[in-house]
Amino acid sequence: MQTNQQWQARREAAVTPGVGNSLQVYIAKARNAELWDVEGRRYIDFASGIAVLNTGHNHPDVMRAVQAQLECFTHPCFQVTPYGSYVELAEKLNALVPIAEPTQTLLMSTGAEAVENAIKVARIATGRAGVIAFRGGFHGRTLLGMALTGKVQPYKKGYGPFPGGIFHAPYPVSYLGISESQALGALQGIFAADVSPDDVAAIIIEPVQGEGGFYAASPNFMRQLRQLCDEHGIVLIADEIQSGFCRTGKTFAIEHSGVEPDLITMAKSLAGGFPLSAVVGRASLMQKAQAGGLGGTYAGSPMGIAAALAVVEIIEREQLNQRAQQQGEQVVAFLRQLATQYDCIGDIRHLGAMIAMELVEEGDAQRPAKALTQALVQEAGRQGLVLLACGVRANVIRFLIPLTAEKEIVSEGLNILSSCLQVV
Ligand code: PLP
Repeated sequence: MQTNQQWQARREAAVTPGVGNSLQVYIAKARNAELWDVEGRRYIDFASGIAVLNTGHNHPDVMRAVQAQLECFTHPCFQVTPYGSYVELAEKLNALVPIAEPTQTLLMSTGAEAVENAIKVARIATGRAGVIAFRGGFHGRTLLGMALTGKVQPYKKGYGPFPGGIFHAPYPVSYLGISESQALGALQGIFAADVSPDDVAAIIIEPVQGEGGFYAASPNFMRQLRQLCDEHGIVLIADEIQSGFCRTGKTFAIEHSGVEPDLITMAKSLAGGFPLSAVVGRASLMQKAQAGGLGGTYAGSPMGIAAALAVVEIIEREQLNQRAQQQGEQVVAFLRQLATQYDCIGDIRHLGAMIAMELVEEGDAQRPAKALTQALVQEAGRQGLVLLACGVRANVIRFLIPLTAEKEIVSEGLNILSSCLQVV
């Protein structure tokens, strides 16, 4: 048997450091919101594999569905000899998205691929090239994904040049003091100075910025964007890769605003731990893609699809939207109480169970405590809790707890968090 330390030593020689990792523990087993490492130590998982396990690790229905699929076939390749489950999932996703008119679906494997393909659809449907994305936003690590990503470190530095035609507008966030009207004004400034709105194919936005620090765009801001897109024939893309599948208490976060996007990108919790992503959008746009222009060898893997078909049922049957609301309330009440004891706890914000806690120096919101945030993640790992940081200022602890986690396990994790704060 190898120890965590032995795996880490072997990894340092064998694996590029570019992958990065927060904890040096190697996992042997996982169930719902619990993990066990190769030395048998147990951890409570407040990270969900970066928002992948809204339905928990190894949900029995997901496991059964994938096992049943393995008995049949693994890869006929949808582009060569197709299979019905792809069509079935497309029908289910078309019915799930908050778009009233008919929609169509493309399946891929990763979030970044979904984003790339949403931009391709927007470009071919409009015949335009320009794309507006937002500062602080994150859309993946492919070259176009990085071009769209607003957050520079550690994603972009040194990897350019990136594809052109991308323009970044400010996202209205409180710590930068950017109001909605200033953000919209800046967008109009881009239209006046850099690219005519008539040359813009798409505006892509995370309704709640994920890597950027869990900032939700207000319903009013989303409505204004919708209006701009309607005025200029621009495709509005909601990147729901992190915020989708009930994380915020709605199936997709954009539903909080009542705004209909034209295209939605989804991945992560779509398939309960298996690599699968999707672009779902208005059929009038999706139909513009020529045969062979979209897809890929592994796009729409049968195992991922089997898992996703199970997930679509679980979210309904286990009422994950309600559970996200309840979990959000439970965690935020605890954090607010903790904040009365520790002045290093700054802003606490959430939409459903997409919860952020900022760490600051001496109660000063303008002084992000990056080193403390890293220390807290490490201490939590030592005490058996997996925490994840994020944010442009790297001082945000984000809570992405499986929505299926029992209340008692969530409490146990929060108590560990409390004891870690005493130490760091
Ligand atoms: N878009 C958003 C909003 C994300 O949060 C992520 C991943 O964190 C991506 C895109 C990229 O997804 P992937 O890492 O699966 O390529």
